[in-house]
Amino acid sequence: MGTVAALSFRGETGDRYEVREAVAGVYDRVNAKLSAWDEDSELSRFARAKTNDLSFVSDDVRPCYECAFRLARESGNAFNPRLGATLRDLGFTRVSDVDLGAIAKGFAVDAAYDELVATGYARRPDGGALLIDLGGNLRSAAGEWRTGVRNPFAATGESAPPHAAIIVLTNGEAVATSGNYERFVEKDGIRVSHILDGRTGQPVQGIAGVTVLAESAMMADGLSTTLFVLGPKAGMEFLAKHYPGTAALWIPDNPDDPCIIATPSMRPRLLSPIFPVRH
Ligand code: ADP
Ligand code: MG
Repeated sequence: MGTVAALSFRGETGDRYEVREAVAGVYDRVNAKLSAWDEDSELSRFARAKTNDLSFVSDDVRPCYECAFRLARESGNAFNPRLGATLRDLGFTRVSDVDLGAIAKGFAVDAAYDELVATGYARRPDGGALLIDLGGNLRSAAGEWRTGVRNPFAATGESAPPHAAIIVLTNGEAVATSGNYERFVEKDGIRVSHILDGRTGQPVQGIAGVTVLAESAMMADGLSTTLFVLGPKAGMEFLAKHYPGTAALWIPDNPDDPCIIATPSMRPRLLSPIFPVRH
């Protein structure tokens, strides 16, 4: 999936090597099916078939496709899993049609989480804590975790960048961030975000980062991309209509007057915000 996977442990966690092997096995299985870089992946074959018929894809990954197509319907194609060709021309992917890059990592985190629940490693009663992290898509498989919302205006360097705010994740909760600062290309000296407006195919401007808290990592991942495209105003209306209560925040791409725009449900979750919180 072209990203970094990490597991964090605290306290009594059982055999950490076994946990690592179990999660790595899940990621390998999901990657073989959903990779946009491997031309033999099931996703690549589905893309070449140019069909909407999900009976072509295997049962275990079908929910990922269904969620992507549902978000597209609900958002009027602001979220659009069929941007593959445009993204390929920009160098962000190799698939030519359907692209699940905005949601596949969250899906993989949930698959790892389900595996750890099934094998008894998650939700441990003995105080052990376990955090799953796939490229910034986090889910607590056990215990509480302090996570940082990256400050998009902090210079990237060797040391950990300062955080715009802290969010404490509880057992089972997931958080995801879509940002314009990690993956982009320069075109005519202008930074082109890897998130496009699915209605126009144009790179989204004006937003530096979006963070979403949800019950599953797939929803947090899919919604963070959707809300990045919609922006705070339309995004809040979208959430109220389709996902009421879901906590989200936007950091507008305005380094001279930085602020955090947060939904009512996100405001009490933000610890030590370094920018004013608005709504
Ligand atoms: P990241 O992959 O950096 O964590 P996202 O989860 O927001 O960030 O996903 C961005 C990826 O989603 C892009 O690299 C591209 O493959 C895909 N994508 C870009 N724009 C859209 C869109 N409007 N709808 C659905 N997928 C998109
Ligand atoms: Mg996403």
